[in-house]
Amino acid sequence: MSAGGGSAATPLGSDLVDLRDKIASRAISSEAATRATLDRAEQLNPTLNAFHELHAERSLERARAIDARIARGELVGPLAGVPIAIKDNIVTSWGTTTCSSKILQGFKSPYDATIVARLESAGAILFGKTNMDEFAMGSSGETCAWGPVRNPWDTTRVPGGSSAGSAAAVAAGICHAALGSDTGGSIRQPAAFSALVGLKPTYGRVSRYGLVAFGSSLDQIGPLTRSVRDAALVHSVMAGHDHRDSTSAIEPTGDPVGACDARAADPASLKGLRVGIPSQYLTGNHPGVDALFARARAQLHGHGATLVEVELPLTEVGISTYYVIAPAEACSNLARYDGIRYGHRTAKPGDLFDLYARSRSEGFGTEVKRRIMLGTYVLSSGYYDAYYRRALQVRRLIKQEFDTAFAKCDVILGPTAPTPAFRIGSVQDPVTMYMNDVYTVNANIAGICAVSLYGGMVKDASGGGESGAGSGTASPDLPIGVQLQAPAFQEPRLLAIACAFESMIGRAPVAPISHLS
Ligand code: GLN
Repeated sequence: MSAGGGSAATPLGSDLVDLRDKIASRAISSEAATRATLDRAEQLNPTLNAFHELHAERSLERARAIDARIARGELVGPLAGVPIAIKDNIVTSWGTTTCSSKILQGFKSPYDATIVARLESAGAILFGKTNMDEFAMGSSGETCAWGPVRNPWDTTRVPGGSSAGSAAAVAAGICHAALGSDTGGSIRQPAAFSALVGLKPTYGRVSRYGLVAFGSSLDQIGPLTRSVRDAALVHSVMAGHDHRDSTSAIEPTGDPVGACDARAADPASLKGLRVGIPSQYLTGNHPGVDALFARARAQLHGHGATLVEVELPLTEVGISTYYVIAPAEACSNLARYDGIRYGHRTAKPGDLFDLYARSRSEGFGTEVKRRIMLGTYVLSSGYYDAYYRRALQVRRLIKQEFDTAFAKCDVILGPTAPTPAFRIGSVQDPVTMYMNDVYTVNANIAGICAVSLYGGMVKDASGGGESGAGSGTASPDLPIGVQLQAPAFQEPRLLAIACAFESMIGRAPVAPISHLS
């Protein structure tokens, strides 16, 4: 670990692979690791609001069972005994799944998501459900029905969203890995705001069975971790075909873990790599973001990579395309919350129409209602051709644009988000909020894979997402994310390059969380 990476001193080890190995060699028990995780979560949650639920009893019981199997010398899975948090839009047959929405308050799923079953059979201890933007709609962790999530780097700021609680939990050192979902950036942008690694896999690479649907043609589940090898390990357990998800891909997964071997982690492996730099990514960012993006380019060049100019002229159009397609799919997916089959039902039902209208009005928050209205509008007769069909046509062009770019380069490099984490409450205008996703949505639109990596620290005194906003108080340094995008189904290659990049930049320091305890 680079200077400042102090977590190696904690009983939980420096990262997930380290902890897994300690548990396997019985240097620490899974029970002790799980208990420490739960204690820390309880201690920090009043400040961070990262968790909805902690499942202490069930987790400790499972941890003891893993310890017993290890003691007997039995073969255990690649995540044996390691605590992992999951976003609250992934269903579990225990606890509740709320999507941070009042409409699903108290909802108990009768079944487990495929990835939940896969992680548990690999030995992971799924100890808690993390807070998020309501139905994963948001870029800040502020649209949660039960209050905003706070960034451990600076608790006056957002941790990014929508996988806000997952990012805050890992950044605060509660656990080494947490799952997020990414429809337009919700794994990568919070990873960037929190100095983490966030992987959005190729569409179809990871089963969506049991992920509460937002934009079904865009959604993917992926890990938020402290290191690339941890992301590769968690991803490798989740990836692969699932007959329960009709959009699940049958392409072989390759070996994402093997791809992150010592050779990959040596920055010398960057020699000869063709790194695409879109001119559209070079301007309009926070000066700190521009400076660290420039530093990354210079370092890559210094290690023998070839920087290739590529053009992605539809970068900004991606936002309008995404904000037609995602709400269109969302309004259809959210029609099932009618007050009858799921979650909240109004106390004043009246006739059937009133029951639907009141249950939905009471259950959904402002941003979700905005998306439902938007989606209904763009799908309505008379507007369908002008908006929805148009967006699908642009979607194809965006995909073609990436194909053309990838003919000239192996990966595309850019900032993950145009700014560092902004202050809670500072972005009130929805369109300004949507612009956070300018560098992330197109990977979902094109269905390719992408990863956000730690890019360095910046100063940001104002902290406003909108000009003039922010409290003006002194602020600690904040992390910046750098994104690598690769063609569909190239996760192993992407992760190998990410390993080299991580060694080149140095791993992120650990958030200074003593002020939280
Ligand atoms: N911020 C984007 C939105 O609000 C992306 C969300 C996501 O990836 N789930 O829709």
